[in-house]
Amino acid sequence: MRALSLETIGAGKVFGNFRALDDVSMRVRAGTVHALLGENGAGKSTLVKGIVGYGPLDEGSVLVGGKEQSIQSPRDSHSLGIGMVYQHFTVAPGLSVAENLVLSRGELPWAIDWKQERAALDAFMARMPFKLDIERAVSSLAAGEKQKLEILKQLYLDRRFIILDEPTSVLTPQEAEEVLGLMQQLAHAGELSVLMITHKFGEVMRFADDVTVLRRGQLVGSKSVADTDEAELSAWMMGESREQS
Ligand code: ADP
Ligand code: MG
Repeated sequence: MRALSLETIGAGKVFGNFRALDDVSMRVRAGTVHALLGENGAGKSTLVKGIVGYGPLDEGSVLVGGKEQSIQSPRDSHSLGIGMVYQHFTVAPGLSVAENLVLSRGELPWAIDWKQERAALDAFMARMPFKLDIERAVSSLAAGEKQKLEILKQLYLDRRFIILDEPTSVLTPQEAEEVLGLMQQLAHAGELSVLMITHKFGEVMRFADDVTVLRRGQLVGSKSVADTDEAELSAWMMGESREQS
C-alpha cells in the first residue's frame, strides 16, 4: 500500500505564554480518511501545521509509516510524502491545468521536455477516478474543479498523506461531495491517507473512517465514525460530557 500511517505522540506547541497544544496523541491509519474536529481555537490548524512543518511542534514526536521523523520545515514533510491542501487556492490562474501540474514540481520551465511530460501526464490522468481536461485554463475552472486540481497536484507530486484544512468551505455542496468522495475513494484504494479538518458533522459521518476531537489544545478523544454520532461529537467539542456531571 502506498498510503502512509501517521501518528503524533504528546504533541505540544506554545506561543509566548499561551499553550495552543498540550500532549496530543492521535493516529491516522494508512488508507483511511481521518477527520479532525474542534471549535474555533481548539488547536486544529496548529497541529496540522506542526505535522507539515510550517510551524514545527515544540514537544512530542511524529511517526510516519511507523518511523519517528523530525519535521522542521515543509521540505521535510514533502520529502516524506506529506502534503497540505489549503482552504484557498494556490494554483496559477493564467496557466493550463497541465502547466500547473508540471510546474508544481519546481523544475525550470525551459528545462522541461513538454512532449515527454505530456505523455506522463496522460498516463497519470488515466489512473485518476475522475476527468479533468488538462488543456483548460485554470481561470475557466469552477471552484470544485480548482480544488480537484489542488488534489491532483498533491498526487502528481507523489504525496501519500494529504492534509486538508477545511477543504469544502469555498465549495458548493455538490462540489464538496465530489471532492470528498474522491479523497475517500483514493484512500480506500490504498493510494493515500487523508487528515481532514472540518466543522461539518455531515462530512465527518459520510466521508471519514475515524475522528479525533480537540478542545482548548487538548485531546478529547478519537473514535471510529461507525461507533459515534453527531450528539456525542458535539458534546466532545463543547465539553458538555465532562462539565455537566
Ligand atoms: P483552530 O484551527 O482549531 O481554530 P488554531 O490552531 O488556529 O485553532 O489556534 C489555536 C490557538 O492558538 C488559538 O487560540 C490561536 O489564537 C492561537 N494561535 C495560533 N497561531 C498562533 C500564533 N502564530 N501566535 C499566537 N497564537 C496563535
Ligand atoms: Mg484552523
